[in-house]
Amino acid sequence: MTAVCFSSVSKSWDATTALHPTDLTLAAGEFSVLLGPSGCGKTTTLRLIAGLESPTTGQINIFDRDVTQIPSSQRGVSMVFQNYALFPHMSVAENIVFGLRVRRVPPAELQSRLKKVLDLLSLTAYQERKPGQLSGGQQQRVALARALVADSRLCLMDEPLSNLDAQLRQEMRHELRALQLKLGLSVVYVTHDQTEAMSMADRVVLLHGGRVEQVATPFEIYQKPGTLFAAQFIGSARMNILELEQGLIAGSGAGGFVGSGAGRLVGSGEGRLAGSSVAVTPPAGAVRVGLRPEDVVLGTGPSFTVEKTEFTGADLLLHARVGSQILAVRAQGKHAMAVQGEVQLSWNPANLHWFDEHGRRI
Ligand code: ATP
Repeated sequence: MTAVCFSSVSKSWDATTALHPTDLTLAAGEFSVLLGPSGCGKTTTLRLIAGLESPTTGQINIFDRDVTQIPSSQRGVSMVFQNYALFPHMSVAENIVFGLRVRRVPPAELQSRLKKVLDLLSLTAYQERKPGQLSGGQQQRVALARALVADSRLCLMDEPLSNLDAQLRQEMRHELRALQLKLGLSVVYVTHDQTEAMSMADRVVLLHGGRVEQVATPFEIYQKPGTLFAAQFIGSARMNILELEQGLIAGSGAGGFVGSGAGRLVGSGEGRLAGSSVAVTPPAGAVRVGLRPEDVVLGTGPSFTVEKTEFTGADLLLHARVGSQILAVRAQGKHAMAVQGEVQLSWNPANLHWFDEHGRRI
């Protein structure tokens, strides 16, 4: 069963198109993350699902029901916002059951549902407090409890953890994910933080300029980014993208890349890509090649000049010159003292990612 289905859904305001016509299917029971840079259309997509915006074109289904013309209150979805949107003058318990009171849920049922979510989110001891007397993490739990008490099968979350400090955010990620799995909820979660997306999602929906770039599991999107944008957006040290100069990665002299023959990548006069045991021919139409910094092997292969190093503790990111281009290499931080001047680098051709002139993966 699908939780959400967009058929040619778009959204424009006068000259601004937040979402170009989009087909998108999000499975029930999954944690789907809408990921992308600021302004790419994540919140608009979430608000379209919630019914807080109506689409310019297309049809939206939620659990196989056409809700395009159905008001937000009747879509059976709950929402958690970035700023929590708690009422400051109400207690935790009153905040949580506010929506149930509006819907005139009978008092006995209301109390039993309240008790359940207070337990679930470890908020029982705080139920009489006002939001101002809670930490950021506790306020976030109240916002979550208010969404869960509604018992809707689809929960929409717009950057719910972005106001928390780094450590608490990490703890809440685990908590939220565990809760989603335990309850079998369908979640659509918006974030611009790729680490958050990768660590929480069953499926990532990567948006760019109002278009879906790729829908994939975190593993797939990392291993096989479908576009140049996906390749560079995902991964905390960005993927190296090198231009194939006249069909080659060009370099000069020993240890650089030299080209021989049309479209062939060879290294060090051995007729092979430097450091690899296999000759590599770029696929037809390739104009760029990608290589993740962690896929470059330090200590074997031809020598390259190190232009710059960045030490971050666990890691050492070094920037090596390859012809007229720079290759970022991720090494363990313990190499920090040893790496200077020249380094030997190699890589496995299986880890190369090829892209055509339109930025599509080949
Ligand atoms: P952020 O991460 O910064 O919140 P986002 O990916 O959620 O960004 P949206 O808020 O969906 O992006 O906005 C997408 C585009 O639509 C932006 O260019 C934005 O300025 C525009 N937009 C959003 N809401 C409106 C509106 N009510 N009227 C006009 N333009 C809007």
